[in-house]
Amino acid sequence: MHELGATEALIELAEKECAKKNIPKPKRILAVLGALSSYCPEPILMYFDLLRSQHQILSECELAISAEPAVVKCKKCGKERKIKDMGEILCPTCDKAGIEIVSGKDLYIKEIEY
Ligand SMILES: [Zn+2]
Repeated sequence: MHELGATEALIELAEKECAKKNIPKPKRILAVLGALSSYCPEPILMYFDLLRSQHQILSECELAISAEPAVVKCKKCGKERKIKDMGEILCPTCDKAGIEIVSGKDLYIKEIEY
C-alpha cells in the first residue's frame, strides 16, 4: 500500500505547519486529493488513524480528505480544462488526445483547524 508513505509525508507536513503557525493541538486537517493522484482516500484515513497516536500534537486531530478535479492543458491548442479521470483525455475543443497535467496529481493540506 503506497498510501502509507503519503500519509507519513502528510503527517510530517502537518507537524511542520503546526510548528510554524504555533498550533499546539490541531482539531482537523483538511487535505485535498487530486483526481489524478494514484492514492485512494480510504487507506490514507486508515493510516492516519494508526499513526496519529505516535505523534503527540496530532493525538486529537481528525483528517478530512476532499477530492479535487484535475486541471489539464491540451498540448495541441493549449486550452485548460478540468477532468475527473484519465478517461477524459480527448480535448473537446480540438479533439486531440495529448494533455499536460497542470494540477490534480497531489495530496496536499488545504487548511488546519484548531
Ligand atoms: Zn485542444
